Amino acid sequence: MDSEGLSQHKHLVFTAPSGAGKTTIVRHLLKHFDELDFSVSATTRAKRAHETHGKDYYFMSKEEFETKLQNNKFVEYEEVYKGQYYGTLMSEVERIEKKGKHIIFDIDVKGAVSIKEAFGDRVLTVFIKPPSFEILKQRLIDRNTESEDALKTRISRMKEELGFESKFDRVLVNDLLEVTLEEAEHIVSTFLNLEH
Ligand code: ADP
Ligand code: 5GP
Repeated sequence: MDSEGLSQHKHLVFTAPSGAGKTTIVRHLLKHFDELDFSVSATTRAKRAHETHGKDYYFMSKEEFETKLQNNKFVEYEEVYKGQYYGTLMSEVERIEKKGKHIIFDIDVKGAVSIKEAFGDRVLTVFIKPPSFEILKQRLIDRNTESEDALKTRISRMKEELGFESKFDRVLVNDLLEVTLEEAEHIVSTFLNLEH
């Protein structure tokens, strides 16, 4: 489908504290809905072993990120953790819109609010809520991707992030994964007016 095949591009933003399940849910939706494409963010954080540049993130130095910032290349950006920047590039939104696809974002709570402000009703923001703070902490520990220090930073930020819940269009509790994935599919097909 080319970009004229869609009356208007819609965007889906999945947001939550680290470890709540955004990546798991977004990956599932990308497999399920051919109409969607993932907004690959730029970041200054170090690449994890299983990650690929250009697929998971555009990994870049702080200098490169700052240059792009000065040249107004970002739709939104946040210093999600101290010294670690994450942002959505304008070129990424254009790349996906040119393909005629709707965009799915996996971004932090503040970035999600910015995307909603930038695109208004074309965006549905979905907050992924863990069943409890303790379970959220445990999932992040079990994922085994963070150093001791990074874990501490992420856990200390979780409480603030959980307080953002009321700012989003939908709240999806991620307790039993199978149920969550079905609900996520339903949210997407309703928003995009699809019959899946
Ligand atoms: P995020 O992208 O929000 O940081 P992930 O998708 O990486 O979160 O999920 C964090 C960890 O929790 C991963 O190891 C993932 O496999 C696991 N996980 C996700 N959803 C569930 C669930 N409903 N029940 C149990 N474990 C889950
Ligand atoms: P991680 O380091 O675990 O991949 O991501 C850390 C946090 O940064 C997550 O909450 C993730 O959603 C968020 N994030 C990823 N990309 C972006 C982005 O482009 N902008 C914003 N604001 N946050 C992002």
